[in-house]
Amino acid sequence: MELLKQKIREQGSVLSAQVLKVDAFLNHQVDPLLMDEIGAELARRFADAGVDKVLTIEASGIAPALMTALHLGVPMLFARKQQSLTLTGELFTARVYSFTKQVESTVAVAARHLGAGERVLIVDDFLAHGQAAQGLASIIEQAGARVAGIGIVIEKSFQPGRTELDRLGYRVESLVRLASLEGGTVRFLD
Ligand code: 5GP
Repeated sequence: MELLKQKIREQGSVLSAQVLKVDAFLNHQVDPLLMDEIGAELARRFADAGVDKVLTIEASGIAPALMTALHLGVPMLFARKQQSLTLTGELFTARVYSFTKQVESTVAVAARHLGAGERVLIVDDFLAHGQAAQGLASIIEQAGARVAGIGIVIEKSFQPGRTELDRLGYRVESLVRLASLEGGTVRFLD
C-alpha cells in the first residue's frame, strides 16, 4: 500500500531496531482517510473468506479493525485489556504478552458476542512476535468459532510472528512488511 509506505517514510520514527513509532497517523493520532484505505484493502483481500465478524484488541487495533468491518459490512468486536464493571457474564479470556509494554495481561471478550460457527477475521496494527494474534485466535477457538484470517497493517518480518502464524496454518495478509529497522532506517521487504 503506497500511501501507508509514504506515511511511514514521512511521519514514522524508528525508536530502536525493534520498534517503529507511528503515533502521528495510526495508533495515537489517527488519519481517517488512511484508515479508510486500510479498511478497504483488508476487506478486499478477505472478501472471499466469508467473514462474519472482525476481532481486535484495544486500543490500537480498533481503528483499522473498525474500518475493515465497515467495508466488509460486519460487526467489529475488540477484546478488553482492563476489567470493566460493564464486562459481565461469561467471558472468553487469553493471556497476552505485550511487545511494547513488556507486561503480560489478560484480555477478555463477552461470550455472548462470539457465536459457535462464526468466521472471525483478526485485525491488528502490528505483527511482531504474534502474541496478540494468538491470544485472539485462542478466544475465537474457545467460542467454537473459526479464524477466517489475520489482517495486519504493519508486519515486522524480521521478528518471528509471521513465521509462527504461518506454521500454525493461519492465512495472514499484511499491508506493509518491514525488512529491518537497523540504523534508524525503515527498510521495506517489498
Ligand atoms: P505481537 O503480539 O505480535 O508481539 O505484537 C503486536 C502488538 O504489539 C500490536 O498490538 C502492537 O500494538 C504492538 N507492537 C508491536 N510492535 C510494535 C511497534 O514496532 N510499534 C508499535 N507502535 N506497536 C507495536
